[in-house]
Amino acid sequence: MSVLPVPPSPILLLDLAAEHALLQPTLGEALREVLDLAAFIQGPAVGQFATELGEYLGGAHVVPCANGTDALTLALMSLELPAGAEIIIPAFTYVATLEAAALLGLRPVLVDVRPDTFNIDPAAVEAALTPRTGAIIAVHLFGQCADLEALRTISTRHGVALIEDNAQAIGATFRFTNGETSFAGTVGSVGTTSFFPSKNLGGLGDGGALLTHDQARAALLRQLANHGQSQKYHHQRIGLNSRLDTLQAALLRVKLPQLPHNTAARQAVAARYDAALAAVPGLAIPARDPRSSHVFHQYTIQLAETSRRDDLQNHLRRLGVPTMIYYPLPVHAQPAYAYLGYRPGQFPVAERLCDAVLSLPIHPLLTEEQQEYIIGGISAFFGS
Ligand SMILES: *Cc1c(COP(=O)(O)O)cnc(C)c1O
Repeated sequence: MSVLPVPPSPILLLDLAAEHALLQPTLGEALREVLDLAAFIQGPAVGQFATELGEYLGGAHVVPCANGTDALTLALMSLELPAGAEIIIPAFTYVATLEAAALLGLRPVLVDVRPDTFNIDPAAVEAALTPRTGAIIAVHLFGQCADLEALRTISTRHGVALIEDNAQAIGATFRFTNGETSFAGTVGSVGTTSFFPSKNLGGLGDGGALLTHDQARAALLRQLANHGQSQKYHHQRIGLNSRLDTLQAALLRVKLPQLPHNTAARQAVAARYDAALAAVPGLAIPARDPRSSHVFHQYTIQLAETSRRDDLQNHLRRLGVPTMIYYPLPVHAQPAYAYLGYRPGQFPVAERLCDAVLSLPIHPLLTEEQQEYIIGGISAFFGS
């Protein structure tokens, strides 16, 4: 039996324990302050965090809520669409994007994505528009903006709201042809994000937020997220109980200043993968849209021969290299969404991606040595 090589140090997909250890005294202090003040719901840290995140995102209004899925639900609620209105959604996304629409009695209308960027295909969006279309949801998958130029044009031309699911691309920017540069999540009518611990800006539990430059919409969202009330016990609308805990806001205030540095560290890891893997036959490195920055929530390669994808994953697992498949099934193949009536073969790009993609370890503390080891394992697999 041959002896397998071992990594220079244990390789993780994400090393939150180590990231938090570096912030230990400040996180502990934030926790203690929340304990002392005992204002666990809507305490001062919530508003402070919203202001600070808004400043980071170019002056957007930030409305915190309980999680990224609620943010999508609240975004759709704020549009006050008629029952059964159609919501155009990419077929290659996390299920939450669909779930929010379905729960509200709106009709998810799936469209295919671009094979290079994984993001919603604007031509497919245009083809899916009907008089019943209520909104388009763009997902900035893996950390790179969808084609916001084309999507904004479609949204304006047809008077259909654009929602940006920005759970994976906080801090990414998009440059429009008119020279304007905007933060992901602040271009459409409303953007949503998640502070799930593994996101680029993660809390120590669930959390989420809505982003918008529209002050009136921010006020409406704030009301909807708090039982539809603007004044205690006076309810203008049917809302949700969806608030960011004071504790999470206080911890996120500690983590937010690390975001630019962490993003740069992820980008450096991605650049090293790019350089080492671009010439490996049999795989494609993630395509970059020159108009968008990429914050690399995931570094996702595609295998030319989809039949070898699981072999590569197993090969790397044996070497002590964890990888993930985001996502193994397109949303229209999920039993919960069978009622939408889609058939296999309807979204060929999304379906192929589910068989071809593999996300490699990428996080701010991944060392060059660890990365060399991962790259060596991949190169050995392809015999290059
Ligand atoms: C994580 C995620 C969500 C949901 O966020 P939660 O905070 O887990 O509810 C929604 N959309 C996308 C694309 C995500 O990655």
